[in-house]
Amino acid sequence: MNSDSQTSILIIYTGGTIGMIKNPHTRTLESFNFEHLLRHVPELRQFNMKISSRAFNPPIDSSDMNPTHWAKLVDIIASNYNEYDGFVILHGTDTMSFTASALSFMLQGLTKPVILTGSQLPIGVLRTDGKENLLTAIEIAAAKNNDGTAKVPEVCIYFHNKLMRGNRTTKTSSDSFDAFKSNNYPNLAVSGIEIDYNNAVIQKKAPTATLQPHYIMDSDIIIFSLFPGIKPDIVKQVLENSKLKGVIFRTFGSGNAPQATWLADALTEATRNGKVIVNVTQCNTGSVKMSLYETGRQLLEAGIISGKDMTVEAALTKLMYLFGKKLSPEEVRREMKCNIAGEIS
Ligand code: ASP
Repeated sequence: MNSDSQTSILIIYTGGTIGMIKNPHTRTLESFNFEHLLRHVPELRQFNMKISSRAFNPPIDSSDMNPTHWAKLVDIIASNYNEYDGFVILHGTDTMSFTASALSFMLQGLTKPVILTGSQLPIGVLRTDGKENLLTAIEIAAAKNNDGTAKVPEVCIYFHNKLMRGNRTTKTSSDSFDAFKSNNYPNLAVSGIEIDYNNAVIQKKAPTATLQPHYIMDSDIIIFSLFPGIKPDIVKQVLENSKLKGVIFRTFGSGNAPQATWLADALTEATRNGKVIVNVTQCNTGSVKMSLYETGRQLLEAGIISGKDMTVEAALTKLMYLFGKKLSPEEVRREMKCNIAGEIS
C-alpha cells in the first residue's frame, strides 16, 4: 500500500490468532497467509501513509517462539530501520510479553516505535478484536511530536485500548479481550475517541542515538517457583546443574522464602559457583524488598539479587541478554540491578 505521504510503517507478521482460520475438519485454528489477513482489513487502505509488510514463513503460534525468532525480528527491524518511521509486529498473545521484553533489550538505542499487537479472536471472525488492535497500533507507530521525533520511541504492546511498555506487561487473561496488564507501571496511552498519550511516562530518547542491534541471547537459565513443601533434593539438583548460569527465583510476597538452612546453604553454594539468582515476587504487583523480613534477609546474605518490581518476563529476558553479552557473573549481577530499558523502577 503506497501513498505520497512521508510516513512509512513496516508490519511484521509472525503468526498467532490474529491471522488464523478454523480448519473445518479438525476444528483447530491454523495460520493463513498474510495477504488474506490484509484482505480482511480493507480499512488499511484508508491510511495516508506507506505501509509495507514482511511475514514469517510459515507463521508460527507464539508458543513456538524462541530467541532465534527474536533475533530474526531484530534483523528485520535493523535492516529496514532507516526506511521506516515505525514498526508493528503481529504476534500471538501467549508469549507476546516475552518477545516485547526481549526486544526492549536487544534493540539498544531505539528511537522509533516498535508496537506489538495481536488478538484473542481471529481477524475473520465477526466480533474480532484484531481490527481495532491492528489499526490503532499502526496509528501509534506513525505518531510524531511537533519536532518530527517519534511520540513513542520504545518497544510497546498495544492491546484493548491500552498502550503499555512491553517489558512491563504480562498476559493476564486467556479469554478476555483485555488480556494484558502493566501492573507496576502506568499505561503509556489510552485509546478512546482520541489516543491520549501520557507523555510523562514515555521514554525520552536523544534523536541522535543510533540503533545497536543485539542478536545473541543465552538461555542456560531457569524460572524456579517456590511453594510450601518444596523438596531439598529437587532444588539442589536443579541448582547443581553445571550448565545452569542463572535462575529467576520466584518467591513469596516481598521476596521471602522458607527459613530452612538447607535452602540458604544451597543458594549460597550456587551463588559461590557463579550462578546468578534473581529474586522476583510471585505477586502481580509490588516489589521485592529482601530486608523487610528475616525470611528475605537470609536470601540477601546468600548473594541473591533483588529483581525489585520487574516482571518475570523482563527479568528472564534481561538475564538472557546479559549472559548473551558474555559478561561475568559479577557483571551480570551488577547490570541486573540497573535500569536498561525502563523495565525496573
Ligand atoms: N496460541 C496463540 C498464540 O499465542 C494465541 C493467540 O494468538 O492469542 O500464538
